[in-house]
Parts: sequence; C-alpha cells; structure tokens
Amino acid sequence: MTSATQQSYETVIGLEVHLQFNTESKIFCGCANQFGHPPNTNTCPVCLGLPGTLPVLNKTALDYAIKVALALHCQINSHIKFDRKNYYYPDLPKGYQISQYDYPIGHNGYVEILSGDHLQKIRVHRAHLEEDAGKLIHDAKNKVSLVDYNRTGTPLMEIVTEPDIRSAQEAYDYLTALKLLLQYLNVSDCDMEKGSLRCDANVSVRPLGETRLGTKSEIKNLNSFRAVKAALDYEANRHRTLLSAGQPLVQETRLWDEHEEVTQSMRSKEQAHDYRYFPEPDLVPFTVSDKNIELIRESLPEEPLKKFERLQAAYDLAAYDAGILIQNPELADFFEACAKQLSPGKKICNWINGPLLQELNTQKKTAAGIPVSPEQFTDLIRKVEEGAVSHLVGKDILKKMIQTGQTAQAIIEHDGLTQVSDNAALEAYVNQVITENSTAAQEIQNGKMQALGFLIGQTMKLTQGKANPKIVGDLIKRRLLHG
Ligand code: ADP
Ligand code: ZN
Ligand code: MG
Repeated sequence: MTSATQQSYETVIGLEVHLQFNTESKIFCGCANQFGHPPNTNTCPVCLGLPGTLPVLNKTALDYAIKVALALHCQINSHIKFDRKNYYYPDLPKGYQISQYDYPIGHNGYVEILSGDHLQKIRVHRAHLEEDAGKLIHDAKNKVSLVDYNRTGTPLMEIVTEPDIRSAQEAYDYLTALKLLLQYLNVSDCDMEKGSLRCDANVSVRPLGETRLGTKSEIKNLNSFRAVKAALDYEANRHRTLLSAGQPLVQETRLWDEHEEVTQSMRSKEQAHDYRYFPEPDLVPFTVSDKNIELIRESLPEEPLKKFERLQAAYDLAAYDAGILIQNPELADFFEACAKQLSPGKKICNWINGPLLQELNTQKKTAAGIPVSPEQFTDLIRKVEEGAVSHLVGKDILKKMIQTGQTAQAIIEHDGLTQVSDNAALEAYVNQVITENSTAAQEIQNGKMQALGFLIGQTMKLTQGKANPKIVGDLIKRRLLHG
C-alpha cells in the first residue's frame, strides 16, 4: 500500500464516556457510594434487585446530571423519565439496568476543545443518567469469577458525541478537555484508574470527500487516555489497510489488548443485544421546573477554556502559564486574588508555577486550600523584589510558610534571614571568597567575566543565601577590576 492511498481516507470517531458521580449515596437507594470498601458491604435489597423493593431517585444525582448536561451546552429535557434496558449478566442482579432511552436529560450539546492551536467544537449527541452495574473480578489463578455489588447503583452519566472527531489525537484532546470541564463541576473524581471515568471509542474510515459514514468498530476495555489514542490509531489503520485491499469490514465490538497493543474481535453486529427498552414502571416521570434548571445554570463555574483565554488577556500571561493555572480552578482563583495585590501577573505566575507548585508537590499538598493567603504570598514576593531577602531565601521562606502557616515577616525575624545589603558586612565575605578562589579571581582580572557568577555563587553560599547578589557582584568587580 502506498502512502497516497493511506492519505485518501479520513478517520471518523465518536466517543461514549461513562462518568460516575461522587454523590454520598447511590442513585436509587441509601447505600454508600464508595470505592474501595470490602466487597459487597455497601448493598441493600434495592441495589441487589430483590423482589418487592422500589427505587427512589437521589436528588443530588439528578442535580449533578442537569449540571453536566448544562455544562455540555445541551438542551435539557425537563421531563424526567427512566427506562429499563433489559439484559442478563452476573453483575446485574435485577436483569435490567435503569437508564434513559427516549428522554435523555441532555441532547444536542457540544464541548469546545483546543486541539493543537485551534479551537474546535465536538458536538454531544446525548447525555443521560443511569445506574452502574456491579463489578466482576476474574481470578484466573483460582479459576473463579467473583462479583462485587458495591458498584451496583452508582449514579452514572453517559455522554455520547456525534461522529465529529477526526483523529486519535483529537479524541485524546476531547477527553482531556471533557475531563477538566467535569472536574470543574465537582461531580466526580474523574479517575480512570478507579473506573469513575470510562470510555468506549467508535471508529471508521471513509474516502476523503465521502459524506456517508463508513462501517465502524466499537473499542472497549480502554483504561487510559493513552490507550484510547493508541487503540484508535491501530484500529483506523486496520480499516485503511482492509479497505485499500478491497476487503470488506464488518461492524463489530473489539477489545483493546494493552500488552499486545492490538484490538481483537469480541462480537459482531449480528450478536448485538436487543435491549427491549420499556418505561420503568417503578419510577413515575416528573418535570423539573425551569426555575430549578436556571438555578443550576447560575451555579456553573466559568469554563476552563474561557478561563484560559481570559487569564491570558487580562493578565498578559503566556498560554503556557495560563495553561498550568487552569488545571485547577482553586489555583487560578489564588492567582487572581494575588494579582489584585501585586502586578505584573507574570511575576506572580512565576512564583506559583515554580516554587509554590513544587513545594505543594513535595509536601504532598494540593492546590485546594493552599495554606498561604494571597496577601501573605504577595507580601513574600514583594520582599524578594525589594531585596529584603534573596530569591533563594525567599523560596525557603515559602516552604516554611506552607509548612507552618506563619507569615514571611515572622519567619524572617525568627530565623534572622534579612538580606545583607550592607557594604561593609558584605565586603568581608567578598574578600574571603576572593582569597579562597584565587584562580577565578585571576580569570576575572584577565577579563574572563564568566568567573564572576561563580564567585557570586560562592559568596551566596558563604552567607547562606543572605547576601544581595547584585551588590556582591558590584563589590567583586570593584575589588578586582578597579583596584
Ligand atoms: P450504536 O447503536 O452502535 O451504539 P450509535 O449510533 O449509538 O451506535 O453511536 C455510538 C457512538 O458511535 C456515537 O458516539 C457515534 O458518534 C459513534 N458512531 C456512530 N457511527 C459511527 C461511524 N460510522 N464511525 C465512527 N463513529 C460512529
Ligand atoms: Zn443499596
Ligand atoms: Mg449507542
């Protein structure tokens, strides 16, 4: 196959994302919605599907679903209706899943993403609320399968895109943008490793210029965004190869094998389920008032991408810096509170994206609830700027501020950290450094100014960072070059 034939096909992708909500209780009963508890401890007759039990809808789950649908710019079905999706599987004790069929909470929405450097809208076909199934654990060693019903009845939202995505990379970018948006909403921890965010990927290829969709594969068993990208690349190539060779494709579900990095057929369309959806008789349809929907709309946070653009424009930040800040809304808020105290934004950003994040990371703290107030943080930056302490000492002070919650001033006074700018005091240090490093001193006298940085560094070391490096530099030059 030549690369010319390769290029004459276009990849078409649509993604189905399942999102578990982090509500306290499950969607239709009062059991704890908790990951990692001992198996089958968070169960009751309702989520075990025992006869005679009745589901009761969790209001928070409904509010979250509306929130997500609104954030996806969907039209909202205020008429709330649930349906039974019938199938048998050992992880589904009722023999059906309560889902939404013809009235999904949201439809016709979109997610705006940044792919490369261009903005793109990926349309959302529908977003509906349903319950999760239990979890099967296949123990190959003991040749048994175990089932844990703790997950049964976890509130779940399914978000289905239109086939708008045109490359594996774009699918990756969509997932990254969607995850950040969902994190902003605080409705889920969006942790793929825990299964709170899962993705099935649909892909087909078609000749460039063709408007009809090609035969698709649906890929399951994707455990990371990286896996989604790799599986889509693999599968799109497999389609191209078959089509270029004039061979037919069958619509099928395939599994990603992450060790072999290949997809394998699981079932073809002929074996696809017929779920015999019908209205859930145990949950009476009802209507959410426009007022309640508007209240939820008003509670939506600023979108990450909007924040990204606004921060760059308002504070003259580079895309790189703004990109780090928006990864966490609390961090962006912290930045903006600091920017009210001190400008330019770039300076604050350097302190946040450098020393602050490094220190939070080392101390295993998150940006949520940064233990230093914006006032204290900018006060420290100001002290460094004014030369009261050196940059190096400033970073040490920040570390202590995060550890102890003390102010910069208190730490400076307690540890005697004020920068030495007093010439007489510094001269003694400089003289000592020059004596101890005569080779470097000689080099400077011969005009090799590279050695200056070294001598300044030695002086900083000698003074434990307390010397004002600019004055030290001046003193060294004066001593060595002007007499
Ligand atoms: P199914 O009935 O097999 O579940 P849907 O029509 O519900 O298929 O679509 C599921 C997902 O697959 C959606 O995200 C949709 O955009 C995507 N999709 C549908 N047809 C194609 C295709 N031919 N190529 C790529 N993606 C597709
Ligand atoms: Zn229960
Ligand atoms: Mg479908």
